Amino acid sequence: MHITFPMLIVAYAALFGYQYGLEAALRGALLVSVLFVFVVLHELAHSRQAQKYGVKVRDVTLLPIGGVSNMESMPSEPRQELKVALAGPLTSLAIGFIVLGLDYIVGYTILDFSFEKIATSWDYIPVYLGWINILLALFNLLPAFPMDGGRVVRAYLAQRMNYARATRVAASIGKGFAILFGAGGLLVNPFLIFIAFFVYLGASSEEQSVVVSEILKDLRVRNVMNTQCAAIPAETTLAQIVESIFHGACGGVIPVTEDGTYVGVVTRDDILSAIHEHGLGIQLGKIVRRDTPSVSGDESLSEVYKKMQQNQRSAFAVVEKGELMGVVTLEDLGRAYALRSAIISGKNNM
Ligand SMILES: [Zn+2]
Repeated sequence: MHITFPMLIVAYAALFGYQYGLEAALRGALLVSVLFVFVVLHELAHSRQAQKYGVKVRDVTLLPIGGVSNMESMPSEPRQELKVALAGPLTSLAIGFIVLGLDYIVGYTILDFSFEKIATSWDYIPVYLGWINILLALFNLLPAFPMDGGRVVRAYLAQRMNYARATRVAASIGKGFAILFGAGGLLVNPFLIFIAFFVYLGASSEEQSVVVSEILKDLRVRNVMNTQCAAIPAETTLAQIVESIFHGACGGVIPVTEDGTYVGVVTRDDILSAIHEHGLGIQLGKIVRRDTPSVSGDESLSEVYKKMQQNQRSAFAVVEKGELMGVVTLEDLGRAYALRSAIISGKNNM
């Protein structure tokens, strides 16, 4: 759950309470908590659809503007992405219409819905439950990342042009909306500024990650890996190697071996936190992460970049047939990316 969600509960409770008293404050808190349940249902719909295409969903972050499913990768097949993106809003719409339909049958006036009414009386809660789902669906269908509508636009465009270009166009539309929200926020409702901020960040990061992988995808690990890294035995203590690692040997990464066999890498960050926790006496074998996957020389850098994000590691060992060939780090990827994009923009300028 994102920190802004409980903040929103408190904010609504305070706002209702300030204007209409203690009971209204309770109602405000309750209404946001119920919204939370609906957001979860919305996200589960996305996840279930994604799982049908074999995408692993690790967790779901709940933002007040909707959830974000943290999937290992979106299906890059546009028709699949389209269905995953639409699953959430369609579910919210369905829940909304069902609830409003029931309200109508039971005798509620379903168009009678205002902030003041739900704040001052419990009677309007069933109507609120219907409308909040409709709003959730419509809001998420806005054509801007990180909202589902942004993905819908991208998936639609990606059937007509390549994926990177489709993302760039979709991101520009999203940024346009962010600017509109920001301006609207200044004039109408400050909450819109908050949304503008999310939308702008969402568009930028989506664009960035696609551009990066597009540029890196033709480069192989063996083109950029560092082959000068000497493996170090697991019984070596930090005190023995701390000097050399902070003087930049092998990009700050140490491949570790045990009885001559490679077992994993230790990075500068691992060492800093190990020194902090255990002091300089600890052995490399105690802090090496043995679960980190290694990569092969033939893998494309865009794959490696994805793996780094998924595993939250900044370096991998390059291992082939059980033998350590070298090390590839996020810095290596960064350099390759900078060089490639400079060459590409040079060509475009000619
Ligand atoms: Zn959604």
